[in-house]
Amino acid sequence: MSDLTLYDPFERMQFTETNCFLCGTAISPALRTPVFGEWLQQKYNLKEKELLLLDKSVATFGDLTIPCCALCQTHYILPLEAEVEQAAAQGIAGLKGLEEQKLFQWVGKMYYGTLVTELIKEMNPFMEPQYAVSEDPKMLGRFGSFFQVLQSLRVPMVFSDFIPCSLFLLEVNALEDELPFEYQDELTSMAFSIKLGSVVMVCTLLDNGIIRRAMAKLYALTSGQQLHPIQVAEFKARVFYAAYIFNVVPEYFIRPVKPDDDRLVLDTLIDDIRNEIFNPWDMKAYAHMLEEMLKPWDIREQEILRNPAMPLSFLLDDKNQFQVLERFHK
Ligand SMILES: [Zn+2]
Repeated sequence: MSDLTLYDPFERMQFTETNCFLCGTAISPALRTPVFGEWLQQKYNLKEKELLLLDKSVATFGDLTIPCCALCQTHYILPLEAEVEQAAAQGIAGLKGLEEQKLFQWVGKMYYGTLVTELIKEMNPFMEPQYAVSEDPKMLGRFGSFFQVLQSLRVPMVFSDFIPCSLFLLEVNALEDELPFEYQDELTSMAFSIKLGSVVMVCTLLDNGIIRRAMAKLYALTSGQQLHPIQVAEFKARVFYAAYIFNVVPEYFIRPVKPDDDRLVLDTLIDDIRNEIFNPWDMKAYAHMLEEMLKPWDIREQEILRNPAMPLSFLLDDKNQFQVLERFHK
């Protein structure tokens, strides 16, 4: 019989260098797993590449590792990394062919890995972070819910009629694409994106697919298209902004376990009676997000909002149809 016991590190804030991040087992601090899979680091030459952490310190992708016991590493992490590596080698078709739950776990592990890195630091009594995630009860509640579903990595779990995230896969046209790899995550709004060669995966975690449903029309328009990098940036701005105004936290309930059960079944509930699902759309805030994403092209907010009712778009024409864009001229 499989062990269906879940681990809850948030209960006692057990974020240490000596507890497996996934199952909690006490381990030697030498046992670790990279946040960004070994194959990813090799393929995209990331080991020495720098990234900015939440506390504004700089680390390299190679530095980012989290405590992980040998069992979790060999049984759960490595097989998942191998599966995604194989699928990614087939481009967008390969990744679309993977079960969504697998992609959720893969993205979730990277997101959670960067979060755990932050939490372990904050648990250090000699450190006084400027913005402590661990002191925000609302955020901790969301992270706790998220970790509950992320444990499907280790504990066999069926999500009854939902997937705990929104996933988008976009294909980039190679003509003006200069970046083999790119990665972005927003710890608090739980938005994440990663670029693997010609494929960009954009994901919002813990929204039960609501953002994907809200963006279904736009996403359908991009299907089968090769996007210019500036179009991808706009798509990301829309998704990240939706995550930013997303206003509810799904609750997850485990159905009672019977003695011979070999998996957990989870149901979910979103309280949309007391809370609006999205906070109101604020055009200025969206323009700001878009400006951030469009930084490489140096397009400013005034330009984005020249027509305040219809912000600048590279994805859609004025009839709201997808526009093909091969080369961008400013
Ligand atoms: Zn473990």
